[in-house]
Amino acid sequence: MTEAHVPITAEIVRSRAAVLRTRIDSVAGDRPVGIVAVTKGFGVEAVRASVAAGLVSVGENYAQELIAKAADLGADPAAAPEWHFLGRLQSNKVRQLAGIVDVWESVDRAELVDEIAKRSPGATIFLQVNLSGEEQKGGAPLGDIPSLAARAIDAGLRVTGLMGVGPAGDPELARPGFRDLVAMADRLSLPERSIGMSADLEVAVEEGATLVRVGHALFGDRPPR
Ligand SMILES: *Cc1c(COP(=O)(O)O)cnc(C)c1O
Repeated sequence: MTEAHVPITAEIVRSRAAVLRTRIDSVAGDRPVGIVAVTKGFGVEAVRASVAAGLVSVGENYAQELIAKAADLGADPAAAPEWHFLGRLQSNKVRQLAGIVDVWESVDRAELVDEIAKRSPGATIFLQVNLSGEEQKGGAPLGDIPSLAARAIDAGLRVTGLMGVGPAGDPELARPGFRDLVAMADRLSLPERSIGMSADLEVAVEEGATLVRVGHALFGDRPPR
């Protein structure tokens, strides 16, 4: 079902973002919900188009891809996104990403907390909760989150939220995990809840998402990796 490769322009992103806003607002009402535009698998033009369309929070999953796109964008402040790192992260990649990444959303273990605190003192992080039980999606078990948060705060990091990826399939399957994540964020007084993607964002917003991370609803089908 791959579409012919259509260049991604700011106009396309703007019109798809308007559709996305309607979907979000139909559930959120007046409650503000932010959008992280997920550009993994697309070229740097998707990042430029996103920022030009007013979606300045941009998410990537792979260290090398993010570093390459940031280098392509250069120092132009008008093109500069707020970079969110979303993917599974090896500690040895942290050093190269420090100074580029603005929000580390996928922090899921003590080793990573310690390395980010060392390479990017005071950085803003979210802790990732594993909601699906699938190891390859990353995330810490919910029960480990309080101690990870304490460790990160002790290390001087700004822990501002929790992130989770719902299971694939019927969006309703994601609801119990989203609910548990939001309850934990409430308990730890963490304001940000980064849950919901293209397919399950209505459920996430109903359960209290403050950020949704959206790729294909903005940019179309991802080219095969
Ligand atoms: C790819 C990805 C997204 C965006 O997924 P879509 O289904 O394209 O909206 C969001 N969050 C994470 C962690 C991802 O890996």
